[in-house]
Amino acid sequence: MLYKFDIKTKERDMVNITKLLIKAIKNENFQNGIAIVYCPHTTAGITINENADKAVVHDLILAEKKFFPKLKNYLHEEGNSDAHLLSSLIGVSETIIINRGKPLLGIWQSIYFCEFDGPRERKVYIKLISEDKVNPKRTI
Ligand code: ZN
Repeated sequence: MLYKFDIKTKERDMVNITKLLIKAIKNENFQNGIAIVYCPHTTAGITINENADKAVVHDLILAEKKFFPKLKNYLHEEGNSDAHLLSSLIGVSETIIINRGKPLLGIWQSIYFCEFDGPRERKVYIKLISEDKVNPKRTI
């Protein structure tokens, strides 16, 4: 099943969207397979990183600005080539294994929507693909 979620972002942001995946899994009592978490944007991304110390998110955003600044000699007239670059570097999706109704994330891992050119209203799609339908004879 395909899920679509709307989220609002700040100028530079990392929004923890793990709960959206949990919501999708619970909605259909999904058990085993994979989830694709995807955003249809060219100046945003999806990543997995630490959820315990909020300083990690702060430091990642700080490093993005330091190592990928807005350069005056970029040609793209919209002026957000730094955001396009980060979108390609981080990527716009993550694939997460779902095992017995739970995402196989490490205890310190969460899924983040990364905003590189906000504030904006953004979309996140989550697609759940069941292993049970692909391999109905699975016994474990
Ligand atoms: Zn642009």
